[in-house]
Amino acid sequence: MTDAVSPPSDRATLPRQGLVAVFTGNGKGKTTAAMGTALRAAGYGFKVFIVFFLKGKMFTQGEVRAFAKFPNVKTETYGTSEWVKKGSENPEARSQSKKALESAGKALESGDYDLVILDEVNSALDFGLVSLEDVIGLIASRPSNVDLILTGRGANPAVIEAADVVTEMVNIKHAFERGVPAREGFDY
Ligand code: ATP
Ligand code: MG
Repeated sequence: MTDAVSPPSDRATLPRQGLVAVFTGNGKGKTTAAMGTALRAAGYGFKVFIVFFLKGKMFTQGEVRAFAKFPNVKTETYGTSEWVKKGSENPEARSQSKKALESAGKALESGDYDLVILDEVNSALDFGLVSLEDVIGLIASRPSNVDLILTGRGANPAVIEAADVVTEMVNIKHAFERGVPAREGFDY
């Protein structure tokens, strides 16, 4: 079989207009869709930075271990030891979310990345752990060639407004509802 794709080095140097995508909704697939996009970008030699908000290290190990095999994909996990709930004050979740946003801001500013993913940032915003002003500021200040993906339930209307691509994952059914726990390699 021949490989019809032009070499990554050629493709990666083409000037391009970056897009902002939002994956939201209650159904499964938001993080998976973002990781799939990262995989595609990595395949073309683009540089990818993935920031996980609100996730303990255990819940990102599939992605973190897989992308560790790619020299052009960097991941950072800003998690908490316990599950973060809306409405409950959790100082650790707040400080981790702040760090995650700062790290994302630096990555965007650096010009080192072609694709930046803020996984679960929509939830962090919905939970009041990061400010709308900061998230919108990050979207607005990104270099125009950078693709940016924001995932998580309950995307803020202003974030939806600022995006080019918005997909809502609709839950039709989930194994969790009949007691099947989250599984390695399938859910995380
Ligand atoms: P995934 O990471 O599998 O793409 P997701 O990003 O769409 O899922 P999250 O809201 O981030 O979903 O959910 C985190 C965890 O909850 C994941 O383990 C995911 O598989 C699971 N999950 C997603 N949707 C549902 C649902 N409707 N009911 C129960 N659990 C769910
Ligand atoms: Mg997710």
